[in-house]
Amino acid sequence: MNKFFDFIISHSKIYGFIYPSSDIYGGINAVYDYGHYGVGLKNNIKKYWWKSMTQLHENIIGIDTSILMNTNVWVASGHIKKFNELFIDNKDSNKRYRPDLLIKNYVDKNILNDSVRKNDILKRLLYYLENNKLLKINKLISELNIKDEISKTKNWTRIRFINMMFKIYNESEDIYLRPETAQGIFCNFNNVQKSNRMKIPFGIAQIGKSFRNEIIARQFLFRLREFEQMEMQFFILPKEEKIWYEYWKKIRLQWHLNLNLGKNLYKLYNHKNLAHYESIGVDIKFNFPFGLKELEGIHSRRDFDLKRHELFSKKKLRYFIKDSKKNIIPYVIETSLGLDRMFLAVLSSSLKKEKIKNNKFRIVLKIPTFLSPIKAAIFPLVKKNNLPKIAKDIFNNLKIKYPLIYDYKESIGKLYRRQDAIGTPLCFTIDYNTIETNTITVRYRDTMKQKRIHIKEICNTIEKVTSIENILNKISV
Ligand code: ATP
Repeated sequence: MNKFFDFIISHSKIYGFIYPSSDIYGGINAVYDYGHYGVGLKNNIKKYWWKSMTQLHENIIGIDTSILMNTNVWVASGHIKKFNELFIDNKDSNKRYRPDLLIKNYVDKNILNDSVRKNDILKRLLYYLENNKLLKINKLISELNIKDEISKTKNWTRIRFINMMFKIYNESEDIYLRPETAQGIFCNFNNVQKSNRMKIPFGIAQIGKSFRNEIIARQFLFRLREFEQMEMQFFILPKEEKIWYEYWKKIRLQWHLNLNLGKNLYKLYNHKNLAHYESIGVDIKFNFPFGLKELEGIHSRRDFDLKRHELFSKKKLRYFIKDSKKNIIPYVIETSLGLDRMFLAVLSSSLKKEKIKNNKFRIVLKIPTFLSPIKAAIFPLVKKNNLPKIAKDIFNNLKIKYPLIYDYKESIGKLYRRQDAIGTPLCFTIDYNTIETNTITVRYRDTMKQKRIHIKEICNTIEKVTSIENILNKISV
């Protein structure tokens, strides 16, 4: 891991964004807790996604389905048979790896200038993966002389695979923790369509927890075993697959770009190895501190899921087209974004160490202002002459409308630094002038500029700087 990434992780803990789960027991691999500011930021990302989907599209309906589902769902969806991951262990370090990634990383690092050899290796890998030739992959690892970075040995086990779903103990039947939220949506296709009188094309959106027994889960919030997804399944006429696929690709990319995290941080990558359910797919990749990695996937799942659920449940999952008087199984375009990955994308691209006056530095979290967990902080300049009371009154008047902080525990410089570190866009300071003129100082996080405004302007200033409406207006369809 690199230094900047370590810094993000420690900053997250020190300032109450993310804590390791079960910290006092030494944690648990790839599971994290969100602290006060973490929850605030996460909820604001959710709100941005949820409003963009369900409020701006009158044909998208929200839902919140259960984590536990009838086991036949996972038989039908193919997860019990096909949701497997290959793994290999190094016997000396006891570290577990995905053999495909072991080979790809080796090739990326060591075969830089020989593109013919590189392509040949990757082609062989793909062929072995597609044809389940695990021994051949083992041989390729030996042929390339790949050593474990920790133990520096080639003492590898045979490659095996495990199912990535968590099975929970139950006396009468196997129950799984869902590995994706999508199946809850497919199973409710009839319910939603009928109860909301939806006409094709229409979508169903959901935010919820998913669980995957990831083999290599060593990248903080990027690869978790318990995580949240924001998924939307859009049901369409089969002949319109290409149109809606392109539409959602564009809309989703725009959603990301509107955050202004940096256009150069994103890259589209068309899927070459398609998952068992998809016919076309693209990843929106993001430049995380450890490289360009998948942030969101947009796929056409065609009629794969509804067809399989019809087969296994013996219930019709169809849509009646009046013109042709035919009952069809709609196609599905899916957009699937990991909330925790999105959180990490926002955090890692916004956390800055900036040079300020007198060769000093400040740590500032320049997150989009509408995502800030705290919208403004209110300080009395000193703890005397009624200044704390005036500040507290302002705080009490506005706290119903906005998440605010009232603070007086340190010097004003330190109070500013703390708010910078958690991404608070505005600080209001009450000083002696306030008593006479009813004005206060407002200080802006990004520029550190200050100006005086009337107390009556505080509310408008917060609204103008932090409102989600500014951004929703940009993407209104
Ligand atoms: P990857 O190839 O990185 O494992 P995936 O292709 O398996 O991801 P999908 O099944 O398409 O991912 O899941 C949709 C989204 O859910 C991903 O784009 C990602 O943002 C998020 N996601 C998937 N697995 C995890 C995980 N283990 N931890 C956090 N987020 C995840």
